[in-house]
Amino acid sequence: MSFGVAAQGRTPSADAPCLCGGGAYGDCCGPVLAGAPAATAEQLMRSRFTAFALGHARHVRDSWHPSTAPASVDLDDGLRWDRLDIVRADEGRPGDRRGVVEFVASWRDPRTAESGRLHEVSRFRFALGRWYYLDGEVDADR
Ligand SMILES: [Zn+2]
Repeated sequence: MSFGVAAQGRTPSADAPCLCGGGAYGDCCGPVLAGAPAATAEQLMRSRFTAFALGHARHVRDSWHPSTAPASVDLDDGLRWDRLDIVRADEGRPGDRRGVVEFVASWRDPRTAESGRLHEVSRFRFALGRWYYLDGEVDADR
């Protein structure tokens, strides 16, 4: 890809609908993508989905727990992340140390006309004053 979407990332206007479906971008994932700590594990999960959708590789990397984070994150900027459905969230609230978020993320690939769903149970940890993504178990249910 020549236009560098993955490296730069797009930023919607504050009143545009957030890509995660959680409301206006400026009230939803916008502040977290701009560096504010997420209040809950679910909020961090939503911001990571939105980061994938917008091509913000740095937020994906920075929100990963240091013990499990890859050395670098390279997003596939051809993939379109269309929709996020939160199935359940356990713990992950202010004052908790850990949290679990189960979600289904829907994607399509305009290059191949393929589409699918990523069903994952993600684990989160609160450390150093912030929520971090630890790891996840993927269910194959395309
Ligand atoms: Zn959002």
